[in-house]
Amino acid sequence: MNIVRVDREAMRRNYQAIKAHVGREVEVMAVIKADGYGHGMVEMALTLQGAGVRHFGIATVEQGIALRQAGIKGQLVILLGGRAEEISTMQSHSLEPVIFDSDQFAEFSAVAGQLPGRLAVHLKIDCGMGRLGFKPEEAFAWSEKIKASAGLKLVGVMSHFPSADGDLDLTRHQNEIFGRCVETVRASGASIKAHIANSAATLRGKEFCWDMVRPGLALYGCYPSPDPLWQRTPLVPVMSVVSTIVQVEDAPADKGISYGHIDRTRRPSRLAVLPIGYADGFSRSLSAGVGKVLIRGRRAPIIGRVCMNVTVVDVTDIPEACRGDEVIILGRQGNEQISADEIAGWMGTISYEVLCLLGNNMKRQYIN
Ligand SMILES: *Cc1c(COP(=O)(O)O)cnc(C)c1O
Repeated sequence: MNIVRVDREAMRRNYQAIKAHVGREVEVMAVIKADGYGHGMVEMALTLQGAGVRHFGIATVEQGIALRQAGIKGQLVILLGGRAEEISTMQSHSLEPVIFDSDQFAEFSAVAGQLPGRLAVHLKIDCGMGRLGFKPEEAFAWSEKIKASAGLKLVGVMSHFPSADGDLDLTRHQNEIFGRCVETVRASGASIKAHIANSAATLRGKEFCWDMVRPGLALYGCYPSPDPLWQRTPLVPVMSVVSTIVQVEDAPADKGISYGHIDRTRRPSRLAVLPIGYADGFSRSLSAGVGKVLIRGRRAPIIGRVCMNVTVVDVTDIPEACRGDEVIILGRQGNEQISADEIAGWMGTISYEVLCLLGNNMKRQYIN
């Protein structure tokens, strides 16, 4: 009854637009954590691999195993590092963890040293995110420790921007700090790849791209913020969400609707019931006119509370609406469109959360 429609061709086009923007010499690591931002990690990885992507960013070892089982061949980087108990699995599946902390380094170095072979790792520096990573002034020392560790092999140096979508001065400053780290870490001549750019930094310009970029959001067709700057890289939304009307009924004026009767009809109305609610990732914060959906190419406001699996919308101004009509929760219908950014605005959140909530709670259908 509710379907998350994922357009593979839109994903390919977004990748090609990003690739054209960064140029041939910069590699693209597609970030597909959180089940591909709600789009399906394995499907998105296969689609991207088919389009030429050879590097993927994921959160956990389990995700890496699933990708290898599905036939993903390229580099898989565990952005959250994984656990020392998982190191032999990382080796057998060629998964590359990020090293960001001294305790984690000690554990990994000890376990990897007991196993044959060397585990490829990426050194993470905290250039201002205030989260995971070593201090910039310790970058060189940690790179030397990793190189000296019998079971580890340093293949990357990386960081992450906190405000690449907004604060250009801060982002430039952090990029300079990162540049100094890259220089010292590479001083010993090793071929270590540098990567720091998320979608926003990638789309901003070459100065942030280094050897490899790590876009997530942009691949799924969303822009980092409302700034028109981004639009020079054309992106197409990959996800749409479709529901169906299960009932249409007339209601008199001043009738209380849904739990708590927080809304009442203001006039004799026609109301449509949709089989979607917060259990499907359609947030309760959209209740009582905050959220809208598309029916027959027009906007219908939500009336009353969004329930667990049910939502009522006001279709008084769409008199042809009837049971069985397609309802667009996210996406385009006729000349109207509801974007993940618009829903995020209604909910007081960001498009990332909208994609995860809707995409990870309903059945998906892949097209193209
Ligand atoms: C999620 C993530 C990204 C991708 O960020 P977007 O804003 O979606 O492009 C890049 N790098 C790291 C370390 C991440 O965790």
